Amino acid sequence: MRFASLGSGSRGNATLIQAGDTTIMVDCGFSMTETEARLERLGVTPASIAVLLVTHEHSDHASGVARFAARHGIPVRCTAGTRTACLKLGFETAEPFDSHAALAVGDLQVIPVAVPHDAREPVQFLFDDGAHRFGLLTDTGEITPHIRRMFDGCAALLLECNHDREMLENGSYPASLKERVGGSLGHLSNSQAAGLLRLLDKRWLQHLVAAHLSDKNNTPELARATLAEAMDCEPDWIAVADQQTGLDWREIS
Ligand SMILES: [Zn+2]
Ligand SMILES: [Zn+2]
Repeated sequence: MRFASLGSGSRGNATLIQAGDTTIMVDCGFSMTETEARLERLGVTPASIAVLLVTHEHSDHASGVARFAARHGIPVRCTAGTRTACLKLGFETAEPFDSHAALAVGDLQVIPVAVPHDAREPVQFLFDDGAHRFGLLTDTGEITPHIRRMFDGCAALLLECNHDREMLENGSYPASLKERVGGSLGHLSNSQAAGLLRLLDKRWLQHLVAAHLSDKNNTPELARATLAEAMDCEPDWIAVADQQTGLDWREIS
């Protein structure tokens, strides 16, 4: 199994997961041209994507989904709540899945994980190829016991480090936005992400990627340093999926 990011942050997200002949894309918050260019950079043809899963309706995840999927004939799947919230975005043909049941997509088992976030029925995902598990966790306001249990024992983690608490507090955002981002239905801070890591069984962890970093309220250095402390590793070991270049393929073996 391997994974890559087309880009990560408040201006657009998309993640790829591959195992055997199966390629899954999660979210598409980019324009058609951007999506196609970023896929090409990662050596993926749109027609090879088995399914486009959508985590929730926020535009940085859902804005590019319907057009891209329709153009390339890719099925779209999301929760019933996300589908309802995205009807205006052209999600009529999206097929809802149960947010509490695993689904099989080719060589991969996809396990949705319900998360607290200010959307209708948001989920994040675990991907299991029978040997390893890759966890995708962004757009989450707080760590729940369910998240802690579900993300245990992953071989790779793409983990939201949205903001540094101090930078957010002292930054230029209006008070209401600071409250939203830092609130329990907002986004994970560096220290919340580190807090989760401290609780998890990390025995099998091969890759740790900081994701969905705010360009105003965080820096890659701060995110890396905070996670490295929780991991007891060198900051360089931790990767960052950024807005512009995303993250190149990472192999899980
Ligand atoms: Zn987002
Ligand atoms: Zn969101």
